[in-house]
Amino acid sequence: MIKLDDAYDEQNIFAKILRGDMPNITLYEDDKTLAFMDIMPQAVGHCLVIPKEPAVTFLDLSEDSAAAVMATAKKVAAAVVKAVDAPGFMMAQLNSSAAGQTVPHYHMHILPRHDGLDLEFHARKPEDMAVLNETADKIRAYL
Ligand code: 5GP
Repeated sequence: MIKLDDAYDEQNIFAKILRGDMPNITLYEDDKTLAFMDIMPQAVGHCLVIPKEPAVTFLDLSEDSAAAVMATAKKVAAAVVKAVDAPGFMMAQLNSSAAGQTVPHYHMHILPRHDGLDLEFHARKPEDMAVLNETADKIRAYL
């Protein structure tokens, strides 16, 4: 269960990714944010933007980090839609288990959308690493 008033858990999967303790397909990194491929994508090109600041939900995020996440999301979303030729995209972020959050480190989802194509289930099916790497290469080419 992730609750709105939870303390930050240094062992969460995104904290491990930030420390370099977990393998990860990075798209973009700067001093305040990291963008990487979601390993259980709901659409081709689904990726995540996280702050380096330890924050569980939006309510824990400093305004400075929130602004940095939005700036990175804007850069990455522009590259993703070009890379997967998407006519639209969604940005989503869930706060607490009650809202469907499964990883207790704040993150913004970037989800390319195509007309008539439904999203896959949330955090359900791991994608093949070779497929994720191929999509990541296409996205990086626009960054
Ligand atoms: P949430 O449910 O918290 O909004 O989203 C968490 C997202 O993280 C899900 O879309 C899920 O597929 C993704 N995810 C879970 N574990 C990992 C992981 O180890 N690596 C990456 N890159 N994504 C993960």
